[in-house]
Amino acid sequence: MLKNDLLEQWDRESFFHPSTHLSQHARGETPTRVVTGGKGCHITDREGNRLLDAFAGLYCVNVGYGRPEIAEAIAEQARELAYYHAYVGHGTESSITLAKMILDRAPKGMSKVYFGLSGSDANETNVKLIWYYYNILGRPEKKKIISRWRGYHGSGLMTGSLTGLELFHKKFDLPLAQVIHTDAPYYYRRPDAEMNEAAFTAHLVSELEALIEAEGADTIAAFIGEPVLGTGGIVPPPDGYWPAIREVLNRHDILLIADEVVTGFGRLGSMFGSDHYDIQPDLITIAKGLTSAYAPLSGSIVGDRMWTVLEQGTDENGPIGHGWTYSAHPIGAAAGVANLKLLDDLDLIANAKDIGAYLNEQMRGALADHPHVGDIRGEGLLCAVELVEDRDSRTFFDPARKVGPAISAAMAARNVIARAMPQGDIIGYAPPFCLTREEADIVVATTVEAVAEVLG
Ligand code: PMP
Repeated sequence: MLKNDLLEQWDRESFFHPSTHLSQHARGETPTRVVTGGKGCHITDREGNRLLDAFAGLYCVNVGYGRPEIAEAIAEQARELAYYHAYVGHGTESSITLAKMILDRAPKGMSKVYFGLSGSDANETNVKLIWYYYNILGRPEKKKIISRWRGYHGSGLMTGSLTGLELFHKKFDLPLAQVIHTDAPYYYRRPDAEMNEAAFTAHLVSELEALIEAEGADTIAAFIGEPVLGTGGIVPPPDGYWPAIREVLNRHDILLIADEVVTGFGRLGSMFGSDHYDIQPDLITIAKGLTSAYAPLSGSIVGDRMWTVLEQGTDENGPIGHGWTYSAHPIGAAAGVANLKLLDDLDLIANAKDIGAYLNEQMRGALADHPHVGDIRGEGLLCAVELVEDRDSRTFFDPARKVGPAISAAMAARNVIARAMPQGDIIGYAPPFCLTREEADIVVATTVEAVAEVLG
């Protein structure tokens, strides 16, 4: 085995890490961690540390690490048939079975599944399908996509534009012109502290109406949103938000994409966030929890209304001009089938719901009164703790203090992983669904210690 120091040297010399401060990393100012193994809710590194991963990788290893059932399904598929494409009607037993399993679990009104590789490419597919749809309907002026500030939908050209976080736009010449942003349903940061949730929803709806009015409904194709904002700060919507948004969109003939890359397959304690909040989307984006990240696979679940028009489009124009070499890759599909079976066999979504309620309750019990904890929020097995300089005015800390990253680092030093979300001092939790109460207690206790270390 390579010595750690040599590997670290190669890492700093050769490896372009995503979402990383490049120069600090190259100079050795930021730590490297070489991860070597994983079991249940824990990962191990080459130094021999065993860490409790309360973020399930990037909220994706939902069934937990080291599941032999999925490893064996992948190995068997690789031995039998590692690859064949899915163009012009080809498929494999795994990909066809997985499409059927997804539709059996999807909200009603869904018709077909297109498979990609990442959440980003699935959202690229969604936007292309929406543009195609309106072109076939003879409404080519309907092209703009409304997204929300703090939304996360990927980091490609279109999807990075949809993402409503400054870091993903700055110096990349984004967002693209077809993308417009509206306010986040971020109740803690509502404009008026007196507003209750229903009043805040009404406020967001009127902001959306005003935006549609200003841009012209005839130019707007779709609205995209995560059922619960994820990377933007783990923010559940206020009461009545989704049905109210759906109503506005229906009135203006605007399609709705539910980006369920994080929430799909159980993260909220329900199979889909779309059912959890009665969203009734036209398209659903899936990735992460589809395979629990044992292999890269994503998908776009296409609703009936769109499917009919897509079929009509190919009658008029020939085969759909959209496809990746690795669409419906058999190894990803085999991982997906085994993963969805495991969710059922071990009743893991029910556990996510129970342990999620426990984690949120314990976190509130331990930290709600801390003078620098502004908000503790969550839904299902998602939880966030937002730190503020001053509770009454909800003021942020000076970003230069990097309070969120410091707390996350103090937790990692105690062998617990929680994520400093990229905007604001927000610590996020999204552990694997197999988390136990003892592990949840460790996560909470470690957070308390880390907050005390950084903020006193
Ligand atoms: N949508 C959402 C809601 C996400 O959280 C993510 C990834 N965090 C993506 C899309 C993009 O997925 P990927 O990183 O696989 O491209």
